[in-house]
Amino acid sequence: MISRRVRDIDYQLLPGADRKTTDIVIERNGIIAVRPPKHFTAEQVDAVVDSKRLWIYKNLAEWRDLNAAHVVREWVNGETFLYLGRNYRLKLVSNQDTQLKLKNGYFCLSRDVIDLGGEQAAKATLEAFYTEKGLQRLLERVNYFAPKAGVVPVAIKVKDHGFKWASCSKAGKLAFHWKCMMAPPKIIDYIVAHELCHFHYRDHSVAFWNEVDKLMPDYAERKAWLRDYGASLDF
Ligand SMILES: [Zn+2]
Repeated sequence: MISRRVRDIDYQLLPGADRKTTDIVIERNGIIAVRPPKHFTAEQVDAVVDSKRLWIYKNLAEWRDLNAAHVVREWVNGETFLYLGRNYRLKLVSNQDTQLKLKNGYFCLSRDVIDLGGEQAAKATLEAFYTEKGLQRLLERVNYFAPKAGVVPVAIKVKDHGFKWASCSKAGKLAFHWKCMMAPPKIIDYIVAHELCHFHYRDHSVAFWNEVDKLMPDYAERKAWLRDYGASLDF
């Protein structure tokens, strides 16, 4: 089995089989497994996966919804968590200098966190991780987009923002939900651009969307992604 990546889709390439079409399956653990016809090259399989990406997004979102609804997180090795649009598997480790770190493609969580504090502590540790990384990334993206939007935010905060992805106050303070960090980078950028445009218009009028369009001409696609898959950004 070979791990491959096409744009933002990671998949496992299974050995070729005696078949005419490529079989794409979302496995029980959320891994995308692809079995192509025997003679296909890896590049040909990449092209098929790319052409099926909307189907894959849709099915991944359904898979996540089902899992969110029916499966209680067990905080065991192999559980997956989203970070910047990619799934990372959990690995419980001993003797780690920090409670949680991303290493070699795994979320390495110190076993002590679960042993001492249980599920609640594990959840809190993950939230703290998203919050800390979120502050770095969101600050960087705000600094990138703010001059383009011609606005000057005065503060930025990352927190549990309830049902909101982000908000901005009249005084120019930005707040983002830590869950934004589960979304692909393109979607995070859309959330940032959207909030910054609210400095000009505090509604969702045509004038507001024109501002967003100036910053991000393909915003509609990103907006639609968030509408369709936003609910799956959770754990
Ligand atoms: Zn808005």
